[in-house]
Amino acid sequence: MKVVKFGGSSVASAEQYKKAGSIILADQARKAIVVSAPGKRFDGDEKTTDLLIQLARSVQDGQYNQIFFEAVLERYYEIIEDLGLDQELKEQLEGILKELISLYGEDGERLLDALKASGEDMNARVMTAYLVSLGHQASYVSPKDAGMVVTDEPGNAQILPEAYERISKLRSLEGILVIPGFFGYSYQGNIVTFPRGGSDITGSIIAAGMDAEEYENFTDVDSVYCVSPKMVDHPCELKEITYREMRELAYSGFSVFHDEALQPVFQKGIPVRVKNTNRPEAAGTRIVLERELNGQPVIGIASDTDFCSVNITKYLMNRELGFGRRLLAILEDEGISYEHTPSGIDNLSVILRSHQLENGKEKRVIDRIEKELEVDDINIERNLAMIMVVGEGMKHTVGVASKAAQALAESGANIKMINQGSSEVSMMFGVDGASVMKAVNHLYRAYFPSNERQLNGDVK
Ligand code: ASP
Repeated sequence: MKVVKFGGSSVASAEQYKKAGSIILADQARKAIVVSAPGKRFDGDEKTTDLLIQLARSVQDGQYNQIFFEAVLERYYEIIEDLGLDQELKEQLEGILKELISLYGEDGERLLDALKASGEDMNARVMTAYLVSLGHQASYVSPKDAGMVVTDEPGNAQILPEAYERISKLRSLEGILVIPGFFGYSYQGNIVTFPRGGSDITGSIIAAGMDAEEYENFTDVDSVYCVSPKMVDHPCELKEITYREMRELAYSGFSVFHDEALQPVFQKGIPVRVKNTNRPEAAGTRIVLERELNGQPVIGIASDTDFCSVNITKYLMNRELGFGRRLLAILEDEGISYEHTPSGIDNLSVILRSHQLENGKEKRVIDRIEKELEVDDINIERNLAMIMVVGEGMKHTVGVASKAAQALAESGANIKMINQGSSEVSMMFGVDGASVMKAVNHLYRAYFPSNERQLNGDVK
């Protein structure tokens, strides 16, 4: 039994629906189908979720905007018409949107979540109708009926442990099950969404709960690449990658698979296969517990921008008991999470995502650190990029870091910080945001010279 998830671009139009339909029906093991909301049909198009967010904002501002309401429905109407589905479905969808607005209109945050979630909810209903129109037994299963109980924080749902037991009951239902991605229900009775891109998370939870043999994640690329194609032309494709490697890569800029989607399948050891809806015959990438290392220490290079570093100096910091704890307590108090903390004897840097210091927080945090920790110096370095060199094979290989250092030197990038966790699955380099493109290209050439490409993937 397989759980299959289709991302937004895979269900963005009737044409894409037809491809998804043939994929579903080509393999009887494809039992549970998780869908995103319709995504972009072409460059410059808007995702339905973004239209729904604009609709929610217009209601919150007290100037409910009919244009967004119609633009959202139009996306579904077009699919319904082009697929020749029952026109009554249109009225049903319109009714759903109107009901949500009248139910939550007063409560901005809840309305936003409910409308965001309706994008996948309406799409699951359309997908069900489509599969039925093809003569197959298919039913829509709402996340509530599926047992997706989650925490109650809007936009940041976390699945509750007891959900898995409930989800396992789906196995006994007949026919194909179509489940909307991206949200669950809290015990308080609210619709709560996962972070953006969260349909991947739903798929993973359903796969774990139903104990699937595989979780297939259909998107619009042939595979996971060893580096983002936005950074390097024609990077090599990866046939197999471990959960730990994918976690590191997804965290830092690999948008193919949501980083929060790995845990549920990882815990059950269920393999994930990332595949292309537009080219289902391509093997895709398998994410597994263990893989053969093939003598290649590095499997991928990821990078992400918009970090900042809070650099703190205090003489004899190393002997001051509780310094780190008190520093992190200030950040916790201010609701700021941190990514890395490289340190020296008398200095410590905390790397954060920059947006966390917006809206006056920066001054308050600096003032508090200065006053409460009596530091000698504190400054904030902005516009940093983090580059992650990732691979399970690094653990057993000498000289991986020296290769990186040389490649970075050749690119002209100044390494501002280096961090390697004890797992040795990844090495982090902090560089200036402006030099990241060149730096990644030089690293790519160093670790993936063309004659080695065959080792880890199909070369186009
Ligand atoms: N539709 C949601 C988003 O655009 C969730 C998803 O597509 O996974 O973020």
